[in-house]
Amino acid sequence: MRFRVSQELRQSVGTEFSMELRERRLFLDDEAALSDLRGSAHMLRTDRGLLVTVHARGRVQGTCSRCLTAVRSPIEVDFQEEFIPVVDPVSGAHISAAEAEDSFVIDADLMLDLGEALRQYTLMSSPSKPLCRPDCAGLCPTCGANLNQDPCSCQSPGDERWRALAALKRENQKGN
Ligand SMILES: [Zn+2]
Ligand SMILES: [Zn+2]
Repeated sequence: MRFRVSQELRQSVGTEFSMELRERRLFLDDEAALSDLRGSAHMLRTDRGLLVTVHARGRVQGTCSRCLTAVRSPIEVDFQEEFIPVVDPVSGAHISAAEAEDSFVIDADLMLDLGEALRQYTLMSSPSKPLCRPDCAGLCPTCGANLNQDPCSCQSPGDERWRALAALKRENQKGN
């Protein structure tokens, strides 16, 4: 998601631009990706760089934290960040690193990369433990079967205790 902003940076402070955002796939981390991203980026020339306002929506693809099946959830990503160029757009002189600290930067080729900001904001607004459905039954800890699909024949120790108790109760009732 790189945009050449050499022209935009040569405009006077207060000039506004907007551009369309479209991206098939953007990897967020080892497991998750943002797909079918659509939206807009509005840019405002500031005295330091470009103030970028993004409104976008897409789908986050990840894995269910209980059963590990693929999960796709719609997401909206909205943020505003100032991007500071590392070089002066007119003279080409390097701008001190202190100025750009803690900000997103526009690199020495005057390319603005929205990818990292999108990645960070998408991860921030995504659930940290996504579920394929709210009542996902997860995987059997013994055999690994997906319990949403078919109950396996494993029994947890807890179940056996309850069964024994129930049997005892039946015996008692018979005795009465
Ligand atoms: Zn699940
Ligand atoms: Zn099992």
